Amino acid sequence: MVLKGKTAVITGSNSGIGLGIAREMAKAGADVVLNSFSDRDEDHALAVDISKEFGVNARYIQADMSKGDQCRALIEKSGACDILINNAGIQHVAPIDEFPAEKWDAIIAINMSSAFHTTAAALPVMRKAGWGRVINIASAHGLTASPYKAAYVAAKHGVVGMTKTVALETAQEPITANAICPGYVLTPLVESQIPDTMREYDMSREDVVKNVLLKRQPSKEFATTEQLGGTAVFLASDAAAQITGTTISVDGGWTAL
Ligand code: NAD
Repeated sequence: MVLKGKTAVITGSNSGIGLGIAREMAKAGADVVLNSFSDRDEDHALAVDISKEFGVNARYIQADMSKGDQCRALIEKSGACDILINNAGIQHVAPIDEFPAEKWDAIIAINMSSAFHTTAAALPVMRKAGWGRVINIASAHGLTASPYKAAYVAAKHGVVGMTKTVALETAQEPITANAICPGYVLTPLVESQIPDTMREYDMSREDVVKNVLLKRQPSKEFATTEQLGGTAVFLASDAAAQITGTTISVDGGWTAL
């Protein structure tokens, strides 16, 4: 229960990595604020389930991370924000000369600019509380590139750069800023790509996973949402108080290649 008494706000946390991080934060005793752009009963039910399972205060707050004012409103509505986890993200794959401009704008807004707005709103709250952690979910694509992912790679490199700047601006305060760079994680987003790829290449599920999805991941295993949650809990712990302005790869060796 190392995070008892802290409040963690996790953007884009009604599925996948964000939900996994929210669960591990709650398991470590933190109160949690879940978020996405939708406002369905099942979104709020996720918070009720976490609250019951881990005995913490859990809320779901709707806010669209493509809109700067809604990013800032999320922090304001949360009341407390000791740990900010910028996780919301989308993907679109196309060659740059065919890349739809509106997809570029949406990816830059959701994957990068949202972290600017939430961090700007959260730092004064952290300073008032005398403690804070900014944890940005970047990607192996924040450190390396792949073809056809211009917007995603640009946004994730941007997030890594912004993380370093926030760390320097808070270096002499009890606040840290770091980025986690996952390789492939088997979330609903990735799972949904498997059937199409099996059809496209006439491959078995096992071949698609090993030879397409995990081609660049030397461990040939997905990272899990629990492992990413555990990494975020570590970065929020006292043991990580002097870790700031850096990246932690959870990528099965991808960026060692
Ligand atoms: P996911 O689709 O399961 O989760 C994305 C989350 O972002 C969802 O909760 C979704 O509702 C939310 N979201 C999307 N648009 C939003 C908006 N406008 N406002 C608020 N919330 C919004 O995908 P995931 O795989 O869990 O991805 C989470 C993060 O991890 C992303 O930033 C992604 O780039 C990053 N990441 C994922 C992988 C992977 O292999 N899955 C690898 C590296 C990095």
